[in-house]
Amino acid sequence: MPGLRKRVLVTGGAGFIGSHLCERLLAAGNDVLCVDNFFTGTRDNVLPLLQNPHFELMRHDVTFPLYLEIDEIYNLACPASPVHYQFDPVQTTKVSVHGAINMLGLAKRVKAKVLQASTSEVYGDPAVHPQPEEYWGNVNPIGPRACYDEGKRCAETLFFDYHRQHKLEIKVARIFNTYGPRMHPNDGRVVSNFIMQALKGEPITIYGDGSQTRSFCYVDDLVEGLLRLMATGPDITGPINIGNPGEFTMLELAEKVIRLTGSSSRIVHLPLPQDDPRQRRPDITRAKNVLGWQPTIPLEEGLARAIPYFRGFI
Ligand code: NAD
Ligand code: UDP
Ligand code: UDP
Repeated sequence: MPGLRKRVLVTGGAGFIGSHLCERLLAAGNDVLCVDNFFTGTRDNVLPLLQNPHFELMRHDVTFPLYLEIDEIYNLACPASPVHYQFDPVQTTKVSVHGAINMLGLAKRVKAKVLQASTSEVYGDPAVHPQPEEYWGNVNPIGPRACYDEGKRCAETLFFDYHRQHKLEIKVARIFNTYGPRMHPNDGRVVSNFIMQALKGEPITIYGDGSQTRSFCYVDDLVEGLLRLMATGPDITGPINIGNPGEFTMLELAEKVIRLTGSSSRIVHLPLPQDDPRQRRPDITRAKNVLGWQPTIPLEEGLARAIPYFRGFI
């Protein structure tokens, strides 16, 4: 109904997760403003949405101020793959920190709810397994991953200080490894790398011995979790882990990808990058209790859904 539509800002909306989120928000009857500087995202990711009169795409860098009238903000702007966030590490910290300050300043001025796309990287190379939200993490503050990990940790600090100091309604989601269609095919993340390598018949590059673990969440499940978190009342701030507790070694992932693509690729081992976390699995008790949310798409099913998208690049 006119006048009752919510005006929702999605920063980083032309990226992988952001484009799926914009789609869902439009389908739910909102006006969506997607703000992106196209560093890792593309217009192609939101091309079908450009036909929709309730969708608006704006090229803007969130490290600069932004004056708008909106009701809700999903702050996703930030490169997410290690290859991309380590390309210009100073800019990565700026995006996380200055971007958060600007979105919090905007939310404060217009009294909007604001959700931060935080990350399991705040737990670093975790000494506690699986990771509950109470765990403070184990992050190397001066290593090559720190621009992202510490940037995201500082963003969380800012969110909670704006909440305490300015009574802002905040929501902090700690997102664990997410995959699906519209991941950048060359962004260096493990799922996109393995699928692209398998489809091209190239060697599958496992870093280290492949015994390190990750927990992979299909993007549709993740977006559902973010929408539910935003819909909670003012007392719910998070942080809340959103991820799939199914835990796999990189060797297991490689085998699944080879089987599902029918590839003849073989596995090669390359050096493990510095500070690469040994293990990662979300404790999602809080998400289950507070949001009534849990993932519904197991890894093999999600991979089978994602593979056709990557075939388009071969
Ligand atoms: P992505 O790289 O596809 O999306 C990030 C988007 O932000 C891109 O469209 C990029 O162009 C945009 N962006 C980057 N810098 C910007 C700037 N200065 N101003 C405006 N836009 C800018 O990555 P993604 O996987 O969709 O991640 C989205 C968010 O979720 C990120 O904040 C990321 O840290 C977080 N996250 C993702 C994962 C995951 O596994 N995908 C896990 C944890 C957290
Ligand atoms: N800001 C913005 N849009 C707004 C309001 C503020 O981008 O609608 C930015 C502004 O540039 C400021 C930052 O958000 O630097 C933090 O705002 P806040 O009001 O918290 O701080 P102050 O302006 O007092 O520094
Ligand atoms: N990885 C790998 N081969 C690749 C890309 C990544 O073995 O081609 C490993 C990487 O070392 C890490 C895991 O896969 O242990 C997940 O890496 P990704 O970059 O996807 O995410 P993150 O390390 O941020 O969880």
